[in-house]
Parts: sequence; C-alpha cells; structure tokens
Amino acid sequence: MNASQQRPTLRTQVPGPLSKQYLDFQELYESNARSYPRRLPIAVERASGSFIEDVDGNVYLDFLTGAGVLSLGHNHPELVATVQRQLTTYVHGLDLPTPAKEAFIQAQLRMLPEGLRDRMKLHFCGPTGANGVEAAIKLCKTATGRADVVSFQGGFHGSTAGAMAVSGALDAKRSIGGALPGVHFFPYSYCARCPLGLKPESCDTNCATYLERALTDANGGIVRPAAVILELVQGEGGTIPATPEFARRVRAITRELDIPLIVDEVQTGCGRTGTWFAFEQYGIEPDVIVASKALSGLGLPVAVLIYDRKLDTWEPGAHIGTFRGNQLAFAAGVKAIEVIKRDRIMENVRARGEQLRAHLELLAMRTPWISAVRGLGLMLGVELADPVTGAPASALAANVQAAALRNGLIVELGGRGAGVVRMLPALNVTAEAVDAAYTALTAAFVEADECFSVVEMINE
Ligand code: PMP
Repeated sequence: MNASQQRPTLRTQVPGPLSKQYLDFQELYESNARSYPRRLPIAVERASGSFIEDVDGNVYLDFLTGAGVLSLGHNHPELVATVQRQLTTYVHGLDLPTPAKEAFIQAQLRMLPEGLRDRMKLHFCGPTGANGVEAAIKLCKTATGRADVVSFQGGFHGSTAGAMAVSGALDAKRSIGGALPGVHFFPYSYCARCPLGLKPESCDTNCATYLERALTDANGGIVRPAAVILELVQGEGGTIPATPEFARRVRAITRELDIPLIVDEVQTGCGRTGTWFAFEQYGIEPDVIVASKALSGLGLPVAVLIYDRKLDTWEPGAHIGTFRGNQLAFAAGVKAIEVIKRDRIMENVRARGEQLRAHLELLAMRTPWISAVRGLGLMLGVELADPVTGAPASALAANVQAAALRNGLIVELGGRGAGVVRMLPALNVTAEAVDAAYTALTAAFVEADECFSVVEMINE
C-alpha cells in the first residue's frame, strides 16, 4: 500500500489464508457478540487515508471508516504528529482543565452557529456515543424533574441500558428484561416505508401531527417527557434523513411544550453531512447535542454533550467516569478542525457526496431492486427491496456487501432487515476513490443480483 493509492488491489480470495487464521483465533477467544468480522471477514494489518490493508496484502477502499469515525481517513499525518507531541506531554486527565482541553472546547464552540455559541456549555462524557446519550437523558431528567423520554422508531442511540432503551431495534432488547421505563416511541419521517401507511401525495407530515396530538391530548396517556431524542439522519436505521418539515415541527412542538430536544449527532456530526452538525441544515436549534465518533478525526475515543446552559442543574459529580479526559483526542480534535477548515473539507463532502449520489442513482436505474438512494453529504445509502412485495431485500444486501468486499470495497449494512447498503467514506475522500468505489459496487451488484446482469445486457 502506498500513500498515493487510489484503487483497491486484491491478491487473494477474501478472506485470505492469514486473515482466516486470525478470524479462527478470534472465534475461539472473543465473545459471540462480535459483529463486523462476521460480515467483513478480514484481519487488518495497516491502513492509510481511505485504504485498509489486510494481513494477506489485499488493499480495500474503506467506505465504512470505523463506523464514521475517521473523518480525515486513517492515520492522517498531521493528526498523528499532533498526537505524538501530546503523548509525551500529558495523556489522561480526568476532568481537570488543561491547555489541550481548553483549546478543544474553544474549537468546538467556534464550530457552532453564532446564535448557539454563547448559550452552550460542554460536558465531557465517558468516551462513547452511548455514554453521551445516557448523559443527555440524565441531564434533561435532572433539569426538568420529569421521567419519561420520547424517541423515534428506527433510531439507534447505543448499546448501554438507557441508550438501548431509546433505540428502536428489538433484537438486542428481546433477551433482556427490565429496560429503562417511560420510553415512548413515535413514527419517524421514513417516507419510503411510511409508518402511517401514507404516500407523499397524501401526507401532511402526519408523523409530526401524531406526536403533537399525543403530547397535547389530556387523554393521550403520556405525561410530559423530560426529553425528545432525535437523529436528523437515522444512521444505523438505514441512512434516513428526517424530512425538513418533520424536524422543524418536532422542534416547534418541543419548544412550545418546554421539552428539551436532544439531537444525537454521534454519526451525523463533525462535517459528515456537509455542515458541521446536521441540525444546521434543518434551520433548527437543539437544546442538547450529543457528539462523539469523529470528534478527534483520528479514532481516539471522546464524547461530549453540548447543551444550553439553562439546563445545567447538575450537582457536582452527576455524570462522572474515569476516561473523560483523553488529551490525545482533544489535541487531535483541535488539529482536525484546523485541517477541515484549511482544506475546505466540508466543500469536499458536498462535492463528493453529489458525485457518489449520482453514481448510486445510475446504479438504481440498472436494477429494480434499488428502491431508494438517500442521505446527506457523505452519509449515503441505497435501500434494497423486493420490487414486487416491497420487503427488505436482506439476502441481496448481504450478498452485495460480501461481493463489494471481494471487489475491494468496504461498505456497511443497516436499516430494516439490514436491507440498506450504507456508505460513510472519509470526508477528504478523492474523486478518484469515489469513482473506484462505484466500479467496485457495480461489479458487486452484477455478482449479487441476476436481475442487474440482465438489465445490463439489455442496455449494452
Ligand atoms: N448514536 C448514534 C446515532 C450512533 O450511530 C451510534 C453508534 N453507531 C451511537 C449513538 C452509539 O455510539 P457508540 O457505539 O460509540 O456507543
């Protein structure tokens, strides 16, 4: 693998013989809950930029980037140099103030829209998205003195008890009783599979109307909640952007009823959708922002709440944790923002996002099994569904993911029935790499979908 690599190169079958040995070892000694290696069966030797090399010397184009963590790709050299300096200065800092942390706070606040900047405070959480979600719920409960939480069907907020309770997916919950009580799920603006059975022509954003009526009806059965938690683009739920009207109305309802609105920007944050946070594109102002994944730009664990200071009713120690002072992540995060501004990375997100979307739309014209292409910026997905029944095409999506890997492209699955092929490339991905991804994905569809080959032959 070299620094100017723009295409994947495959030398062995996937998994290759050495990867297979690592996977066998892993199966013996790691928990059955392991997840990614089941669908992406490779052992990784090294990575650089948008590319990953496995232990057999195969080089893949990485359109998963550590689940959306590596905003500037793997091992960005300037971030690495910054972290190396910090490594010999100070590493683990609890929640003591430090120059690295202060610079991080200032950099984060400067990235907020002007109106929010002066109103917001930060809380450093345990270094995962889920811990940020737990903290956000706790903060809103403390500030309002209320107990319940409203969340949206299809959302994903993490695997810890509270975060799982506010997530839609049932598989993880089924075997565990005693979930956090007082969570109410409402329909999300998932228009491709409208939860209210409507079509865009017959819809008046009834999902938002339903929420509004339920929360204002004295017989609605739901006491006023402590918070509403919302993803502006459901990520694991299948790359589903909220419709602008839905997001605006959820904000209007929560504001009217004095319910703090938490936006979970763990996946959408830090430039992924083409603005620093996705809420900026919706013209709304949240009360609490949860951010984590790409905050350091390099994959160093860190999570924060950015919230309206009027909610700061916490007692000292209200949400503590040992690993809340990762100075390496703070230093990298400051450098990442500097690079993102200097290199106009958000412009690249928008341009490469349009390029990738255009490619995906071309693919959609070649198979009736792609029912939707959607997303914002470089958070894109194609939904695969049976053209006759409309059911999620789970087997096809799994085949496409496996065939993409064999063609040198790493993609993720998500959504109902894992029927959405999801892409989260590095935000500094090049136009050449996006073209290479399209070539690999086209080959993957041809291998995985007989229909696709037929349409291709007719077109030729
Ligand atoms: N919220 C969202 C929107 C996420 O996408 C995720 C992770 N995919 C989480 C929360 C949980 O983050 P973590 O895995 O770091 O706990």
